[in-house]
Amino acid sequence: MPVLCSWNITIEIDELLRGSGMRDKPRPAIRRAYREAVRIANTLNEPRAVHGCFPLAHIGDNTLELCNGTTLTSEELAAHMRGVDKLIVMGWTIGPKLESAATEQMNEGSQILGYGLDLCGSLLTEKLGRALYETLSADVSEEETKTSPMAPGQLDWDPGAQRDILQLIPAEAIGMSLTQSAVLRPKKSGTAVFGVGKRGEVQSNATPCDKCPRREQCNHRWHIH
Ligand code: SF4
Repeated sequence: MPVLCSWNITIEIDELLRGSGMRDKPRPAIRRAYREAVRIANTLNEPRAVHGCFPLAHIGDNTLELCNGTTLTSEELAAHMRGVDKLIVMGWTIGPKLESAATEQMNEGSQILGYGLDLCGSLLTEKLGRALYETLSADVSEEETKTSPMAPGQLDWDPGAQRDILQLIPAEAIGMSLTQSAVLRPKKSGTAVFGVGKRGEVQSNATPCDKCPRREQCNHRWHIH
């Protein structure tokens, strides 16, 4: 399970403005701070990812049993993975430097720059998760198809399942760990799984967001948290 670190993931000012929900023209001071945030973010961003492929032994009503003995518990996850033969487990991070820079700016009273840096970090993390999914999807054979990704914390899948996920992949190789309360460190990190199985037996179009009650308000309605 090699570490994937050749990512060309950057952010643009327009993405940051959109991500911050600004509809009108931003004030010059905000635009200036956000330009600086983007410049710093693209310098401090250190994208890295790991993944693993795990054959499935059994899918129950609310469990996914892997051949290695790990059981993941969630009714929605089990339904999402119906028909799948193997589970691809992904972990990714942009590293700790950007979140430290954001905290530093906020502590020094530069709230707009600090907020801009923090948001850049979240957007870069989302982009990396998406790029990882797309890269690994390219390995799916002609006879197979894939599900959309699902992450701990989506629908009824307990966020604490991060613990199970981090035991499946060499998260420490990219500096990822969990706090006691199952929060990922660095903060700008993510995990998710997707399934691969025979064409016609796997739901390839459904996403967890389709069923989410927060769907209409969610700004991050992409398939990975
Ligand atoms: S709509 Fe938003 S909150 Fe709901 S599952 Fe999708 S990303 Fe998560």
